[in-house]
Amino acid sequence: MAIIITDECINCDACVAECPNNAIYEPDHNWSYSDETKLSGIVNLPGGGEVDADAENEPLSNEFYFIVPGKCTECKGFHDEPQCASVCPVDCCVPDENHVESEEFLLTKKAWMHGE
Ligand code: SF4
Repeated sequence: MAIIITDECINCDACVAECPNNAIYEPDHNWSYSDETKLSGIVNLPGGGEVDADAENEPLSNEFYFIVPGKCTECKGFHDEPQCASVCPVDCCVPDENHVESEEFLLTKKAWMHGE
């Protein structure tokens, strides 16, 4: 499953640089699938459907740092554990029960964003 940042976030910025998928954004910042990935233009989503990878999407939070579920792989394929959770000083990076995904799917997502 993806990781979610809770409202306990203190906006310290420690997690952003640690995310290998560039899935973490500052509050009130637009996000896109193409940020720091190989994706560009119209692409097929791993879970079905298609999207414009270059589109600027609305922030998921205006108050706290946020993780884009579609870009989060729990660091599968990069690290043994989610790096945001490792560095967060207040332990507010937790499993997102609304985005439960298998390890196989998370690795598919990783390959989709970065290549094999
Ligand atoms: Fe928020 Fe934790 Fe990230 Fe700091 S490390 S910005 S407290 S989620």
